[in-house]
Amino acid sequence: MTFQKKIYEGKAKTIFSGPKENTLIQYFKDDATAFNAKKFQVLKGKGEINNLISEYLMGVLSNNEIPNHFIKKISNREQLIHQCKIIPLEVVVRNIAAGSLCKRLGIKEGLIFKDPIIEFYYKNDQLNDPIVNKNHIISFGWSNKEELLEINKISLKVNKILKKKFEYISISLIDFKLEFGRKTFDNSLVVADEISPDSCRLCDMNSKEKFDKDIFRYDKGNLVEAYKKLSIRLGIIK
Ligand code: C5P
Repeated sequence: MTFQKKIYEGKAKTIFSGPKENTLIQYFKDDATAFNAKKFQVLKGKGEINNLISEYLMGVLSNNEIPNHFIKKISNREQLIHQCKIIPLEVVVRNIAAGSLCKRLGIKEGLIFKDPIIEFYYKNDQLNDPIVNKNHIISFGWSNKEELLEINKISLKVNKILKKKFEYISISLIDFKLEFGRKTFDNSLVVADEISPDSCRLCDMNSKEKFDKDIFRYDKGNLVEAYKKLSIRLGIIK
């Protein structure tokens, strides 16, 4: 990597200054974390495979005219991205009951929802990313009514596109998380961060084999191998 200034270090990625104005470099680490970093391990190869998968899925969004921060992959672990002001929200879209929703509400895992459920979480590690509603988001100035409508619309569209993409290879998209930002170039709203099996729940429709970070969260096998299998099924690698 050419020398760039570190701007921000997250749990799985580091952000560096970009080569041009209004650009940044997103570097994918091998670090795997779960339960707000209480569980941590370095998994060799994870960064490279997530870079590939996220490049592919952001490309799918671009092909479907969903604005996103991705410009191009520039190395095995790096992407050139549009510089954004990140909205401090994690937008979770759920098709099937799993994870924190089951724990919080006592809903049986595997329940298929008639319509997708969208939830908002405040991106704040110190507070454990608490769930919030639209009133909190607007009152605290994290977003506004119009932008939230747009975020909802884009999130549902992304769900439709990705669900179809995975269904085509017999994989269920159980749920996923999106982050949004406003480009510093023109303040326009874009999907930011990454879309990878770190931020989605995915399982084979027939065998129920898992292809996501739950493998690491609950010690269910080799995460990097599972992500590679997923990449092969998506046609990203041979
Ligand atoms: O844990 P929970 O059930 O709320 O997660 C819902 C979805 O959002 C999962 O696919 C999970 O991987 C993703 N997520 C994430 N980053 C977080 C929290 C959840 O990518 N900080």
